[in-house]
Order: sequence, then C-alpha cells, then structure tokens
Amino acid sequence: MTDLEIEWRSFQPHYSSRELLEIFPEAESYLRDRLMRYNRYLKSVARIVKKQLKHIARYKGFQKYFWEEIIRMEDGDLLNLCQKEIERIQNFFRKEIPGQITDADIQRAREYPLKQLLGTTKDKVLCPHHKEKNPSCFLKNNFGYCFSCGYTFDSIKYLQDRENIGFVEAVKRLM
Ligand SMILES: [Zn+2]
Repeated sequence: MTDLEIEWRSFQPHYSSRELLEIFPEAESYLRDRLMRYNRYLKSVARIVKKQLKHIARYKGFQKYFWEEIIRMEDGDLLNLCQKEIERIQNFFRKEIPGQITDADIQRAREYPLKQLLGTTKDKVLCPHHKEKNPSCFLKNNFGYCFSCGYTFDSIKYLQDRENIGFVEAVKRLM
C-alpha cells in the first residue's frame, strides 16, 4: 500500500449495520422480505433433515454414521449458511444498547474537528499539556503533537485530559 492509499483508507467511514439502515431506510422492506424468505427456507430444510434422521433411525453402527454424515454434508452446510445470513440481516435491525459505544461511535468521535475543540484555526498552537510562551504544538489531520513535551493527542485524548473524563465518556460527548 502506498502512503496515499493508507491515508485514504484511514478516512473511509466505518458504518455499522444499524447506521447503514439509517442511511438507506428504503432498504428496510428489502431486508425484511429477505429475512422472511431465509427463515422460511431454514424451516423447510430443517424439516427435511428431521425427516431424514427419522428415516435412518432404524440403521445401526457404521451404516447409521454413514447416512448421518451424508445428511450433514448435504444439508448441514446449508443450514449453517442460512443461519449466518439470518444473523447478518438481523444485525441491521439490532437496537442500540444504551451505555455501550460502537467502533463507528469511536470513529465519529475521532473525526470531531480537533481545531474546533482547541478553539483555533492555526496549525501551530500553544501546547494544551504544558505551560509555554511560544507555540510548539503542531496540528495536522486531526492529530496533535507537542515537540516540546511530547504530548500526543487526537480529539478523544484531548477531551479526556481537558475534562478529566474516561475514554467512553469522551467518545459519547464527541459522537
Ligand atoms: Zn507540550
């Protein structure tokens, strides 16, 4: 990866399933329909497997094992696939658990304009971490570094230190 590609990737938005559905609310009926179809499919495959297992119940020993393996190979994978797809779709409808933060929340908090937090439009400011008369703190790409004391910060870290609060609290205030 080139430096430019790394930078481009770091600025790509990271959306959770729930947020994607907020962006595309018109996709809800599509997802509900898909979920219904997969649930129906899962039920019918499960019914077939049940029938087959009942059918081979009279077998014993290796013969029984052999047919169980056949069923597992033929329909077991299908059941797993169905289950996975159902879980994936359900994620779109999952309600946010209050008090918990997601990766997307952290990403959004991190993107909160650092200069706005610092109340400046400059790229070189007085260090918020130590007393000084001449600025030695540089800001770029929403990231700050003080060449005098080594203080390193983004929006989350800066708010944590300024307000003396924890990581989760800082994320919640910035998202
Ligand atoms: Zn400093």
